[in-house]
Amino acid sequence: MSTAPMNPGATNTGAMNTGAVNTTILGYPRIGARRELKFATEDYWAGRADADALAKTGADLRAAVWNELRDAGLDAIPSNTFSFYDQVLDTSVLVDAVPGRYRHLTGFDRYFAMARGVQDVPPLEMTKWFDTNYHYIVPELGPETRFRLADGAAAKPLAEYREAKALGFETRPVLVGPLTYLLLAKPSPDAPEGFRPLDLLDGLVDVYAEVLERLAGSGAAWVQLDEPALVADRTEEEIDALARAYTRLGRLTSRPRLMVAAYFGTIGTAALQRLSRSRVEAVALDFVAGPGNLDVLASVGGLPRKTLVAGVVDGRNVWRTDQRRARATCASLLGLVDRLVVSTSCSLLHVPIDLDAETALDPDVRGRLAFARQKVAEVIAVGRALKEDVQAPAEAPAAAGIDRAVRERLDSIGDTRRGDRGTRFTAQRDALGLPELATTTIGSFPQTPEIRRARADRRAGRITEADYERAMKDEIARVIALQEDLGLDVLVHGEPERNDMVQYFAEQLDGYAATEHGWVQSYGSRYVRPPILHSDVARPRPMTVEWATYAQSLTSRPVKGMLTGPVTMLAWSFVRDDQPLAETARQVALALRDEIADLEAAGIRIIQVDEPALRELLPLRDAERPGYLDWAVGAFRLATSGVADTTQIHTHMCYSEFGEIIGAIGALDADVTSVEAARSHMELVGDLRAAGYANGIGPGVWDIHSPRVPAAGEMEENLRRALRAVEPARLWVNPDCGLKTRGYPETEASLRNLVAAARRVREDVTG
Ligand code: GLN
Ligand code: ZN
Repeated sequence: MSTAPMNPGATNTGAMNTGAVNTTILGYPRIGARRELKFATEDYWAGRADADALAKTGADLRAAVWNELRDAGLDAIPSNTFSFYDQVLDTSVLVDAVPGRYRHLTGFDRYFAMARGVQDVPPLEMTKWFDTNYHYIVPELGPETRFRLADGAAAKPLAEYREAKALGFETRPVLVGPLTYLLLAKPSPDAPEGFRPLDLLDGLVDVYAEVLERLAGSGAAWVQLDEPALVADRTEEEIDALARAYTRLGRLTSRPRLMVAAYFGTIGTAALQRLSRSRVEAVALDFVAGPGNLDVLASVGGLPRKTLVAGVVDGRNVWRTDQRRARATCASLLGLVDRLVVSTSCSLLHVPIDLDAETALDPDVRGRLAFARQKVAEVIAVGRALKEDVQAPAEAPAAAGIDRAVRERLDSIGDTRRGDRGTRFTAQRDALGLPELATTTIGSFPQTPEIRRARADRRAGRITEADYERAMKDEIARVIALQEDLGLDVLVHGEPERNDMVQYFAEQLDGYAATEHGWVQSYGSRYVRPPILHSDVARPRPMTVEWATYAQSLTSRPVKGMLTGPVTMLAWSFVRDDQPLAETARQVALALRDEIADLEAAGIRIIQVDEPALRELLPLRDAERPGYLDWAVGAFRLATSGVADTTQIHTHMCYSEFGEIIGAIGALDADVTSVEAARSHMELVGDLRAAGYANGIGPGVWDIHSPRVPAAGEMEENLRRALRAVEPARLWVNPDCGLKTRGYPETEASLRNLVAAARRVREDVTG
């Protein structure tokens, strides 16, 4: 091992590399610059293309990435970062962790059935990959799971390694590490109580050992094992599992060199200690999301005789790297480790592919950006600069400074409602005159093909602005009439004008920019184009008032104004990193506060501020959570606290596991909170109450994630269950989430049942 080339994945050029600084990246976007992967998979699903065509697109995309990385001058190139859907799902297939319900299928059909389900066979669960917006397919493991290398020599990492080699690329295959894989898994539905996926570690490591041996046999010099789980809090038992896994893999007589990558934060000291004592040859750390890594490294005495892969170029955000700072970080690291490789902080999967494809961006904003292709060049530039001691390039221009008046306003505004909750409750009851168990919806109504067409026609200039406005108003009028007919108590305008709940506002706020081609994979063939929050946020003019007041003009029942909250506005965007998120959140909150004031002045009596991403931005480590919740709650309160006691503030969150944030829900001090609860049978109502939440609650009684129409009796039962924990005047009746992805037939039928259920229970409780 002493002759290890210092560069993970580079061809072994012996002593030549020693002492030099080389370059790599941890992964690259797989979707193709023109979204080739999306179109190919969707063609396959629709039966427009066969498996060979899909496989060929995959091969073309892989070859294109390898070529690009080599041509750019990267020293070490990763492979097996491609996936037809998701790398965690690939791992489940690799180790044959395929639940019985998919085993009658083969090939792509089995693979996609696990991801998306087929008739009568539900898919595996999907959830967020750490604190990113990428979603992985959750492995389902039980005591009956028997790991084995499913495809032998044809297994994906082996096949892709050989494929690259045949094309002339020496690559470093990337695998999800065994510890992270098991920590991301969940017990299968029929696993006995107390079973934990981690119990399966030894069997899993056996399969990894076989993969490593086979990779070595094919000539692989290095392999990358991704263990982002190491940047979250870990128990002693989990750290022992880490040590056991890597001791076993380290002792293999025939294997590639091992590089363990821990990204998205600061690695735990115990974890780094164990890795440092193991035979692992390289450790990759994230110096962007984990500035604490320098201290942790120093505290364990560096990484003697190992290579440190230093993630100094941000793989998760779109800003140009400050190369002076990256070089300074690397320079301080050179004192702590023997060998250094410059890298991205994590895979570039999380950023758009190419800034050069953007032609409409403001040049000042553009000058501050780097997408995947540009980030590869940055890694190379930092590496070269350290080697040759060349001048760092000029720094990226800074964002324009914040307006003094805005800052003064921010300092002078409080974040507490005028009246306490009791005062507001009475004031709103008198002003709004709503019944107990008031019925409402979460905001959006089905986005029909006509609505989408009108939006596309407007974008393409095929219809005039006036035509578009007419089409939207007609839609609003239809939705209002429908809701009156259904007998709902609090109406919505239906959000037909919104493409997306964040993008819609980003397009109207100063400080945000949109890209044309900046697609990022969210899951499978679903890609998003997050807006870029680049400068101070301000609201040049009202954003929703016209639609809301138009809707209100059509009915005497209250229409809810509908806004996206500050945390969600940040969570689903690329956000400037030159000031704390908390600061940026306050600017967004101030813009929303002004919008809310305008809505209120225009006669809108109920305003909902959605925060579906509140839990999502929760830091991976416990210690950082209170600080986050503090500013997140503060921003919401800043946005919503300016209104009169008679104006009712609602919020909405679409998940039912509140865990860590349950206390924060109360602190938001919204008058009414609607949450997802249908699948968990209203459990949450009691939990929220127990956590001290005393305002209105709208537990979703209809799971809108499926086209199924729930019977009135079923919703009634849910309501009665909720009434055990909350009084009728504070109980709201609504679906789990917005209806934009639903069709009209099931929407109408379900809402009819919902209103009927509310009426029946209402009759009983009011006697
Ligand atoms: N008001 C939004 C809607 O109904 C809320 C969406 C969400 O919670 N994700 O579509
Ligand atoms: Zn929702």
